[in-house]
Amino acid sequence: MIYFVGAGPGAADLITVRGWNLLKEANVIIYAGSLVNKQLLESAKAECRIYNSASMTLEEVIAVMKAAEEKGEMTVRLHTGDPSIYGAVREQMDLLSKADIPYEMVPGVSSFCGAAAALKAEYTLPDVSQTVIITRMAGRTPVPEKEEISLLASHGATMAIFLSTGLLVPLRERLIIGGYQEDTPAAIVYKATWPEEQIFYGTVGNLPEIAEKNKITKTALILVGDFLGDAYERSKLYDPAFSHEFREAKK
Ligand code: SAH
Repeated sequence: MIYFVGAGPGAADLITVRGWNLLKEANVIIYAGSLVNKQLLESAKAECRIYNSASMTLEEVIAVMKAAEEKGEMTVRLHTGDPSIYGAVREQMDLLSKADIPYEMVPGVSSFCGAAAALKAEYTLPDVSQTVIITRMAGRTPVPEKEEISLLASHGATMAIFLSTGLLVPLRERLIIGGYQEDTPAAIVYKATWPEEQIFYGTVGNLPEIAEKNKITKTALILVGDFLGDAYERSKLYDPAFSHEFREAKK
């Protein structure tokens, strides 16, 4: 059996209990070397074989999984954050299906949730935004034209932008073309939940300058939107004047 496990955003204790238990049982662990916290590997059994996928191709990863499967062993494929976000897991799962190898996925805390915790922020504030857009600038992986940043920005929703720290000048341009103001609040969160975590507050207009000044070039998320501002409405759910299934309105 192969388990695709979300390692969480950084801090080792942010893996799920399920993921942790699987790590302790695994005969083989293949981890995404660049972003998975190596502390997690310390919980592996002494005889566990551990591979860093950073230097491997898809075919090499699958070959390791197949070999383990033939011996009746259990493999954990450890991905950073949650496997479903920029995890390149679909291609692995499809090859495993073809080879009749069973697999399961175990969710993890994505870095955009880790970043919200770092910022002590709520992405979905009443009267501000009720939508979170998870996206990226095109890099070597292209982004479909209809998802171009300015089109997404036109909603004025909360945006969590991955994999784009090296592209902040064109990102700013696309955000402004899409309708954000230069002074729309923005933040850069570097290595959320790691000991080296750093938070920089700014605006859409000065994102590139903040990153340059602080030498942030990777492993960061760009958060954009008025959720970082001061204005919002109270929730209806906890409003004394509001009745719902579990509570009568107070007079
Ligand atoms: N599956 C992961 C994302 C992998 S893509 C997840 O759910 O978070 C890698 C990108 O994620 C990085 O370029 C960066 O933009 C972001 N990232 C991953 N870990 C991060 C962290 N701890 N803090 C800030 N950004 C992070």
